[in-house]
Amino acid sequence: MNKTKTFRYIALVLVCLALVTIILDLQISKLSIIRPKPRMLETFQMVITPKDSITSSLSRSPLPQKDQTIIIDELKKQTNINRCSPNDFYEIVFAKDSTDWISFAYYPVGSQLFYLVRKRTDGSITSSTQKLGLTTVEVRKKGTIESSLWESMRALGISPEAILSFVDIFQWQLDFNTETQKGDRFTIVFEEDILDKKKTVAAIRIKAAQYKTDKRALASVYFASSDGRRKGFFDLDGMSVKRMFLSAPLQYRRISSYFSGARMHPILKYVRPHSGIDYAAPEGTPVSAVADGVVIKAQRDNSLGNYIMVKHSMGYETSYGHLRNFAAGIRVGSSVKQGQLIGYVGQTGLATGPHLDFRIKLNGKLFNFLDIKQPPAAVLTTNDKPDFNKTVDAYLPLFD
Ligand SMILES: [Zn+2]
Repeated sequence: MNKTKTFRYIALVLVCLALVTIILDLQISKLSIIRPKPRMLETFQMVITPKDSITSSLSRSPLPQKDQTIIIDELKKQTNINRCSPNDFYEIVFAKDSTDWISFAYYPVGSQLFYLVRKRTDGSITSSTQKLGLTTVEVRKKGTIESSLWESMRALGISPEAILSFVDIFQWQLDFNTETQKGDRFTIVFEEDILDKKKTVAAIRIKAAQYKTDKRALASVYFASSDGRRKGFFDLDGMSVKRMFLSAPLQYRRISSYFSGARMHPILKYVRPHSGIDYAAPEGTPVSAVADGVVIKAQRDNSLGNYIMVKHSMGYETSYGHLRNFAAGIRVGSSVKQGQLIGYVGQTGLATGPHLDFRIKLNGKLFNFLDIKQPPAAVLTTNDKPDFNKTVDAYLPLFD
């Protein structure tokens, strides 16, 4: 009997011990849920959501309340904290085994700047505005047009900004809205500055570009003379790509930004039903002046509807008809720059659908704009030639 009692007693003690161990264990794991301890110099990262302010986001971080206030006060010295945007992010570096922070860095999206708040070992706080480092990489791509330049370049991972910069180079020679065809080939070489830390592209610079149709081969390289006086894009003979007239009054870059980031870049067409050119384009498409000049007419006409006439140098005049409306500030006497927005495509006057009626005259006589031969605006000097030829030789093997 005694033996049984002793056994029961021991069993009871064991059960109690087990229970105590389980309860203690639960308490410990509860504690660690409530207070996650950042390990030795652990970095905590948070991304700002569309509903966040910096303050609301920080309140969800492991930082103690008083430190949140200290950091916000310091940040205010460096930047307007109310201007935070979604996808901005920040990083807090914590000291070993505590919620004691060492540094706080705020990275606004799309900026090379970031804001740093630091706690010194004596506990004093400093803040500063800093610049992210850049890594430059060269990108070389070649491709063939399937449906449009935009789609073919995007399919190769070429960024929208690189595509638009490529089109800009040839904007005097080729109208990428109407003149690209399946089978055309392109080569693009550019440098990308990639922001350290964020891995986003801060800037792109085209170094060389080629566009080849079944009729023409356009090639261009970026060159800066050693004295820095002549720089820009030159064809392989050392002539600047710039011309007095743009290739068309509907500019690819303008149209791309008008049609939501060019994801839906419209394929435009033109016809020549008269001695001008009709560009079919959606109502509201931005219209640009093809050259520098002065507006000599901005009025309503029975057949041309709202139309603008611009006088240029050397006896040239251009006109833009059927406009829905004129751009702000366009009136008789206004000076306009090449590429400046002057109006929007419409169907005012005698028009069966939205289109731009574009005409050009030389000394009062209409002629076919598509046949225009334009001299280059600038040519490199013989002194530039040795350096220029080296640049060309570097890229020539990449061209078709
Ligand atoms: Zn017309």
